Amino acid sequence: MGPNPPRIAGATRPKDHPMSRFWSDIVRDLSPYVPGEQPRQPGLVKLNTNENPYPPSPEVRAAIEAELGDSAASLRLYPDPQGTVLRETIAAREGLSPEQVFVGNGSDEVLAFAFQGLLAHRKPLRFPDVSYSFYPSWCRLYEIDYETVALRDGFVLAVDDYAGDAPVILPNPNAPTGRALSRDEIVRLLDANPGSPVVVDEAYVEFGAESAAPLIAAHPNLLVVRTLSKSHALAGMRVGYALGDRELIEALVRIKDSFNSYPLDRLALAAATAALRDEAWFAKQRDAVVASRERLSRELADLGFDVLPSKANFVFARHAGHDGAALARALRERAVIVRHFSAARIDQWLRITVGTPEQCAALVAALREIVGG
Ligand SMILES: *Cc1c(COP(=O)(O)O)cnc(C)c1O
Repeated sequence: MGPNPPRIAGATRPKDHPMSRFWSDIVRDLSPYVPGEQPRQPGLVKLNTNENPYPPSPEVRAAIEAELGDSAASLRLYPDPQGTVLRETIAAREGLSPEQVFVGNGSDEVLAFAFQGLLAHRKPLRFPDVSYSFYPSWCRLYEIDYETVALRDGFVLAVDDYAGDAPVILPNPNAPTGRALSRDEIVRLLDANPGSPVVVDEAYVEFGAESAAPLIAAHPNLLVVRTLSKSHALAGMRVGYALGDRELIEALVRIKDSFNSYPLDRLALAAATAALRDEAWFAKQRDAVVASRERLSRELADLGFDVLPSKANFVFARHAGHDGAALARALRERAVIVRHFSAARIDQWLRITVGTPEQCAALVAALREIVGG
């Protein structure tokens, strides 16, 4: 994108690239999301994709083994297309009914269904200019017009900038900044857009922000989307879910059943159900990540970094004396990988996943070498 990206970016075309004459028009116009690197090289301190540094509950392994049995015979059979047991488990945890819960193959799939089933409207969709970079990719895929709303100074999200009764999606806490909105601010956002769907992407909410889920009863326009990838250490299983009024959930079910009736396999259903039932394990790992986050934020500040206040399992930081891309390269040379985005407003910043205390110590030692101090 040039220095002045158009406000309705959905109406522009991506950069020129080689293309096959067999491609559809849609494929030609896509601008796919680029996920963080999954390196094959062993031994790296991997702090680039916000995975949980701890293993999932031991109950997960037991549940997968029980599902497989001696001969894996259950794999002959299709899984439950509705994921009923998992949905009941989530509903009980949230004080909702199973009809208010949708499960999918990672929250990326759940979000994609929400874009197609709920956020494609006559009015352009609105989301922050600094936000989850998958959102513009789905807009392109589903030909949804969108407007980005600039975050204020310090990457502060002002909910009053979203008044006007149009569809909205935003992460809370925001990614990649880690800044969180309060539940009261979400109420203001919902009340300012009463006739439009509002999707709150709570991928990181379990690390200390206030969830919007308790607002579902009073707000039929609210869809809350969550993932087990980060909070429950199950990124490799691909399980996400949505909570909302049953009419919103029904929209997602209708998309799913027009796309893939069985998005979650038997092992993923068993693993996710077991992980969610082990609240004690979850709470212990979460508290460890939060403690590491607070310590890491202080240590980065001591090295001269500006660090945003984070409610997620990552921190967003920059050093006034060192270019962001150069810092990421220097870290990689020291076997530490973090995420750097080249988008204009954030190209001096690093998004650093909170690791174990040992991983954080390795990061801080590498940074001390690079920036001195
Ligand atoms: C990681 C992430 C997701 C996707 O999570 P999956 O369930 O692993 O697909 C969605 N939204 C945001 C903001 C994320 O950071």
